[in-house]
Amino acid sequence: MDSLPLSLAATEAPLGVVMRAAVFAGRVHASHRRKGDAQEPYVNHVLEVAEILATHGAPVPAIVAALLHDTVEDSDTDPEPTTLAHIAAAFGEEVAGIVAEVSDDKSLPKETRKALQVRQAPKKSDAAKQLKLADKISNLRAIAASPPRGWDHARRVEYVGWAGRVAAGLRGVNPALDALFDATYRDAMAALAAEA
Ligand code: ZN
Repeated sequence: MDSLPLSLAATEAPLGVVMRAAVFAGRVHASHRRKGDAQEPYVNHVLEVAEILATHGAPVPAIVAALLHDTVEDSDTDPEPTTLAHIAAAFGEEVAGIVAEVSDDKSLPKETRKALQVRQAPKKSDAAKQLKLADKISNLRAIAASPPRGWDHARRVEYVGWAGRVAAGLRGVNPALDALFDATYRDAMAALAAEA
């Protein structure tokens, strides 16, 4: 039996891996929807995160991990949950490691997870920092454009502030991404202020 791929570059062309990850994510998220009023297919979110990274010079493993970043967290109640072992087998240990770094421990209460994200952000790898920053950019856009149902103004302002505190620990790896986060944060706060 062939051994599992340890890194992407050694085994296949980057675009092939990226497309394989997009198809994998599309299947895992087939029945998942975003929380916003528009009820968009969930896969739109991971495609957006991957696109942000691809257009801002992030490395291929981070882009592949972006496509897969919510497959473990969001399939835990599915009949056949996706595991980090599945991701390692299909995309290699490096990608699985990045996905593990950006996944929350869902056994912890939500407020604890949010506090941990702030505290642990500076300790992440460069790839995970870029992925988490792109994730927050996508989420801030959604908070302004299509907020989750039932989230009042105060809750959305609190979310944007929290995302800013997480992002503070993710900065310094990719200046273009830092600048995009800052612009998105300003836009989200301005949109919320205009509503008030
Ligand atoms: Zn996400």
